[in-house]
Amino acid sequence: MYREAVGQFDRVAAVMGLDANVADRLRVPQKSTVVSFPFRHDTYNKVETIFGYRVQHLTTMGPTKGGIRYAPDVDLGEVTALAMLMTWKCSIVGVPFGGAKGGVRIDPMKLSRAELQRVTRRFTMEIINVIGPDTDIPAPDLGTNEQVMAWLMDTYSQHVGHAVPAVVTGKPPALGGSVARREATGRGLIFLVPQAANVVDLNPAEATVAIHGFGNVGLYAAIAADQAGLKVVAVSDISGGVYNPDGLDVAAAAKWVDENRVLAGYPDADAIEGEEVFSLDVDILIPAAVQGVIHKGNADDVKARLVIEGANNPTTLEADDMLRERGVFIVPDILANAGGVTVSYFEWVQDVQKYFWTENEVVARLREIMTRAFEDVHSIAIAENVDMRTAALIKGIRRVADAKLVRGVFP
Ligand code: GLU
Repeated sequence: MYREAVGQFDRVAAVMGLDANVADRLRVPQKSTVVSFPFRHDTYNKVETIFGYRVQHLTTMGPTKGGIRYAPDVDLGEVTALAMLMTWKCSIVGVPFGGAKGGVRIDPMKLSRAELQRVTRRFTMEIINVIGPDTDIPAPDLGTNEQVMAWLMDTYSQHVGHAVPAVVTGKPPALGGSVARREATGRGLIFLVPQAANVVDLNPAEATVAIHGFGNVGLYAAIAADQAGLKVVAVSDISGGVYNPDGLDVAAAAKWVDENRVLAGYPDADAIEGEEVFSLDVDILIPAAVQGVIHKGNADDVKARLVIEGANNPTTLEADDMLRERGVFIVPDILANAGGVTVSYFEWVQDVQKYFWTENEVVARLREIMTRAFEDVHSIAIAENVDMRTAALIKGIRRVADAKLVRGVFP
């Protein structure tokens, strides 16, 4: 994944004619922390060695920013690639952060609440010297949530001796989390539908949507799509998918998952295989779970005219080429899912200023930033005659490169 991210960067750097010294500097992260630590299971007699990572790609723009994922197969390469993508993402929406990402190599689904808390507190201690409200600010990602961020905030605060809400975003509102942060990624993505639909001459009022993933991104994308009057016909999660060509009752499906943890068994739609969402006859496809799900094996089955990437890196480079050859318009992850980090930025600003905004203020500012970012990226795509992913990378890299050049080299 890291090689892919660098390959993509090199290709765009060449298109842009990027200064070679700056290009060289941006290919590698500025700081990587790899830790291993002991984790005691609830049974008490089992102590496992766990690996954790925190990679800070760019410290030029301000503190670094990005989520922490818990997954059994996460590794340094994946986290490094995602840290680099966070740099471009922050730059595209114009928030004053560089990119970072963290990971703990563990399956959170197999942990009790007490075990999840112990892992989180111990990992936080392992990286305590590299995070902080002015240095590096974690957030939720795959396998982590508001509760995990609350434990991280508490551990950091206990260590320094006073409450430091601004050390992490995506925490519960009771601790200084922002209203509307939880919904931000899904909602921000749906804000882009009218502009993207316009490009492919699609009438949003008649558009059908399939969503892969029903977690923090997919669930709130489905709710926002439903509220925007789009017809959500299919959603899926690790347990499989549900499909109703006449439109799903999104609120009922959400309630089902709230009560049963997974979609499987949801009665008011046809059960389908999770993978089937990619090949359904819909107008808009939203991959909103994990990386690499649209690949050369299924890219030609995609019937949607619009692919809006809620997950990070859901489309492999080969699949990306195949989709574009067939005229599919792709709104890339670093633009489409930037609503999350945008409201994370709002949360950090509110924590630092100790002055909190209303939901209307948060949502209105999110909409403004997302729609402007789309417009900027689309203008670059037209002016440079490139696809949206390349255009997004050009916008993201350009701002960072300008900043690096004016800061110069120390000493
Ligand atoms: N993990 C999210 C992402 O990949 C959010 C990061 C953040 O809010 O800092 O964009």
